Amino acid sequence: FYFYPQLLELIAKSQLTSLSGIAQKNYMNILEKVVQKVLEDQQNIRLIRELLQTLYTSLCTLVQRVGKSVLVGNINMWVHRMESILHWQQQLNNIQITRPAFKGTTFTDLPLCLQLNIMQRLSDGRDLVSLGQVAPDLQVLSEDRLLWKKLCQYHFTDRQIRKRLILSEKGQLDWKKMYFKLIRCYPRKEQYGDTLQLCRHCHILSWKGTDHPCTANNPETCSTSLSPQDFINLFRF
Ligand SMILES: [Zn+2]
Repeated sequence: FYFYPQLLELIAKSQLTSLSGIAQKNYMNILEKVVQKVLEDQQNIRLIRELLQTLYTSLCTLVQRVGKSVLVGNINMWVHRMESILHWQQQLNNIQITRPAFKGTTFTDLPLCLQLNIMQRLSDGRDLVSLGQVAPDLQVLSEDRLLWKKLCQYHFTDRQIRKRLILSEKGQLDWKKMYFKLIRCYPRKEQYGDTLQLCRHCHILSWKGTDHPCTANNPETCSTSLSPQDFINLFRF
């Protein structure tokens, strides 16, 4: 799921005006579908809120430069689309997460080491902080130094980390503070559940796991993973 919002956000940042009118219309339609899905599933809310904010900011700039603007179509249509974005933002801000009716084992029923193990798999520090706000026990776990150390080492190189050392009052490295410092300075490692693969031999794009009948002698060596940015770059001449 992460791939699409990331792609839409990159387009919103810089490529919106290079889309044709039909493509701009499709962009808005896809975005609407994504927002509806998030409202239904109640997942990835922050991701989409950030996307909408980026898009709205871009559109504000573009609409203000009317005349020079390269947005295709009547300006009123874009004002209407911006109103839709504001409406979606409001819906996402007011979303009430419904607690699942399931009454079995919950996260906090698991042994501590398992809870910690699961927390180590969260790749965004903000999720750890949110999780810590759920219950006092989780608060203690979410402050685990090793957890934050691993998170720093996952996203950043040793060199980047060495440049942003922060010591706590006890004289130890404060990995949590360092993490939030580091994300302001360097891009985090991108990770996607689904990635696009490009076969350089056949010039075929496919999702990872859906293989094409490759004619290369050694298919594995011709295939490269594409990030959303790499995908956009394919359209640059
Ligand atoms: Zn191939």
